[in-house]
Amino acid sequence: MKKKFEEIYAEIEKNDSIIIHRHVRPDPDALGSQRGLALLIKNKFPDKKVFTVGQEVDGLSYLGTMDEVSNEIFPNSLVILTDTANRPRIDDKRYSKGNKLIKIDHHPDEDVYGDISLVNTKASSCSEIIADFSFYLDERLPMTAESARLLYAGIVADTGRFLYPATTPHTLEVASKLMEFDFSASEISQLMNTNTKKVAYLSGYVLQNIMISEEGVAHIILTQNMLKEYKASDEDTAPLVSLPGTIEGVLCWAIFVEQPTGTYRCRLRSKGPVINEIAKLHDGGGHPLASGANAADQKEIEEILAQFEELAKNWNTKQ
Ligand code: AMP
Repeated sequence: MKKKFEEIYAEIEKNDSIIIHRHVRPDPDALGSQRGLALLIKNKFPDKKVFTVGQEVDGLSYLGTMDEVSNEIFPNSLVILTDTANRPRIDDKRYSKGNKLIKIDHHPDEDVYGDISLVNTKASSCSEIIADFSFYLDERLPMTAESARLLYAGIVADTGRFLYPATTPHTLEVASKLMEFDFSASEISQLMNTNTKKVAYLSGYVLQNIMISEEGVAHIILTQNMLKEYKASDEDTAPLVSLPGTIEGVLCWAIFVEQPTGTYRCRLRSKGPVINEIAKLHDGGGHPLASGANAADQKEIEEILAQFEELAKNWNTKQ
């Protein structure tokens, strides 16, 4: 890890222009690691041009905004990717136009890319890795209050406020070091704990209508009509993803969100059985216990549910 940190730092030192990307449909870890790193570099090297690119999403503006970058800037820039396991999920396809590509991530390394690749699947979040990077480099890339706030937000979000098994003693150590900086950790937690009214009502719908099988597989389909009825968007489904896991007996679950094209975004989670292998069979991937996929139609939804059933059954038999 130290060798990779040194290699990445050498590239940062060498380049006057740096563009940082992350994955599409960003979550707080994608944004926190992306912007947290950008601000760390900007703080230490004020003369460098550091850009963050990608689409902005409603509701996460407290993690900052993105930059407009023209095409001609790319060839003379170092490109860094945070929190993005596979190339198709990179937001802003110009990432390949830079003079060098660095991947920094915590997902399983399914798609190996980048001239330098730092992948630590033991890290709770990509934000944890960026914080480690700064703490390792110390005065060569000192932590700042604003970066600490962004990275803390990324860690809190990706660990479900330190609830998920990816939370390690090291995660808590990093979070504790970040909290020493001058920002309000409780404000971050409050922001993440606050839902819009439409999401609150949609949560009620999910909890009332979710189907739970004997083996503990829970699922719900959110159709376009339903989203329209609640005036909710695809992005509004993010706060719903953890809800089924709060119900007794639920082992793994799927929330299927119909897209305007008629296909379904599948948000898959588990409390035990590894589900990313199933996600990979359906145009997806992700972490062992938190994955995403795409289903072409209802038939593929049924296939995914049958695979979840099988997985849960095997798991329950072994317990
Ligand atoms: P989400 O349900 O969108 O929060 O996704 C959970 C995790 O699954 C993310 O951290 C991603 O790593 C991964 N993921 C989601 N969608 C996909 C996809 N289409 N392909 C690969 N990985 C995905």
